[in-house]
Amino acid sequence: MTEKTAIQSLIQQQRDFFATGQTQDIQFRLEKLYRLKQVIADHETAIINAVKADLGRPDLEAYFELAPVAEINYAIKHLKSWVKPQKVTPSLSQFPASTWIYPQPLGVVLIIAPWNYPFQLLISPLVGAITAGNCAILKPSEISQNTSKIISEIINKNFNSEYITVVEGGVETSQELLAEKLDHIFFTGGAKVGKILLESAAKYLTPVTLELGGKSPCIVDEEIQLDYTAKRIIWGKFVNAGQTCIAPDYLLVDSRIKSELITAMQQSIQSFFGDNPAISPDYARIINRFHFNRLQEFLKVGKIITGGESNSETQYISPTIIDQVSWDDPVMQEEIFGPILPILEYDDLGDAIAQINSRPKPLALYLFSQNKDKQNRILQETSSGTLCLNDTLLQFSSRTLPFGGVGQSGMGSSHGKATFDRFSHYRSVLKQTFLFDLPLRYAPYKGKEWLM
Ligand code: NAD
Repeated sequence: MTEKTAIQSLIQQQRDFFATGQTQDIQFRLEKLYRLKQVIADHETAIINAVKADLGRPDLEAYFELAPVAEINYAIKHLKSWVKPQKVTPSLSQFPASTWIYPQPLGVVLIIAPWNYPFQLLISPLVGAITAGNCAILKPSEISQNTSKIISEIINKNFNSEYITVVEGGVETSQELLAEKLDHIFFTGGAKVGKILLESAAKYLTPVTLELGGKSPCIVDEEIQLDYTAKRIIWGKFVNAGQTCIAPDYLLVDSRIKSELITAMQQSIQSFFGDNPAISPDYARIINRFHFNRLQEFLKVGKIITGGESNSETQYISPTIIDQVSWDDPVMQEEIFGPILPILEYDDLGDAIAQINSRPKPLALYLFSQNKDKQNRILQETSSGTLCLNDTLLQFSSRTLPFGGVGQSGMGSSHGKATFDRFSHYRSVLKQTFLFDLPLRYAPYKGKEWLM
């Protein structure tokens, strides 16, 4: 017999602990949620500093990483109602049985996170895993190494590894984990790795949640409040230097409003980041040299109408708007994931819809328009993980709106109760009585043809 690897032993320890039933206890779950909240509060500054070190984030943007605290508060408030078995009406054929739906934890779950919001995208799913009564293994992104280190330190110090543990590492570590039998894999990252993950999961038919990315279009109609539209687009695109999964990837603008919109967006960039964003305290940096170089390629085509400056030493790329691009250009061929905003234009909304529908279903779709008919057309004639009208990004920061992709942008939603649902199995239970027995269903069937 070959000896177990460290990861195999870890999973076995978690399986054994899960089997004790302790994680199912409501009080246990509540205690661990409070504990997690306290651990975050105790290390708030260290977490914020780690995110700043990884992404050069402004203070306020780094502070947004503490979003899991709101998830914890929400879970604590609702846990008792979420775990309650739900009595449902049995069908006539089940008479006189009673029927319930019981939410049950899945067991040992794996959570894998990306680097762009490295704390919240690992810890928010963990809140759901704890609330639903599971054991969890967390794999932060190796690219955001400072955040990975602090998460590992604070979680591994404050939770037993047989219950919750952080395994740091890169692709190899990820693959080692994925080679094992798990009860759920919650993955946030790119579609390329999403495909690899699905293949690994197929081996044991492990259920997965895939929170992926892609190109999220932003349609701008002529019937808008120009100033608000410009500000909301510029904020959504350039927060975290464009390294946001639901950032408006590109604009599809009604040609009649294009030049006014460009002017308004240029003014917004100036008012947010000043004349030289390189010295603005409110503008983040590109995560690493690989992504910096990848983004440089996008600056080589089209007409740069704002920005285009970069500094490889500091991994700075200024807020950039590019006009005159086509679908064949590299910038339109993949998710940009950086501070570059290309503009396409349309004369007819039907044409913009056709362009969107001929491509993979996006994670987010944005429409700026005050026209209700146009809003309804986008709602009915397109598909995307989320749809946001007249704003950007805000659809993410909610515990009552499930967040997730569709088609190539992902499968399964999270946030609030949706995360609890991802980590639960809704078990259907039927209980029959011994008081009497209806013989109708039993053979011989002669004389029972009326049942057909
Ligand atoms: P990524 O897919 O490269 O990496 C994500 C995780 O997978 C990391 O922890 C990494 O270590 C691991 N990984 C990398 N290669 C692997 C492999 N071959 N086998 C197994 N594991 C592997 O993604 P990223 O670059 O960290 O993040 C950017 C992507 O994430 C973008 O596409 C973005 O849109 C998406 N994203 C989606 C959401 C969402 O909520 N839907 C949120 C943030 C980011």
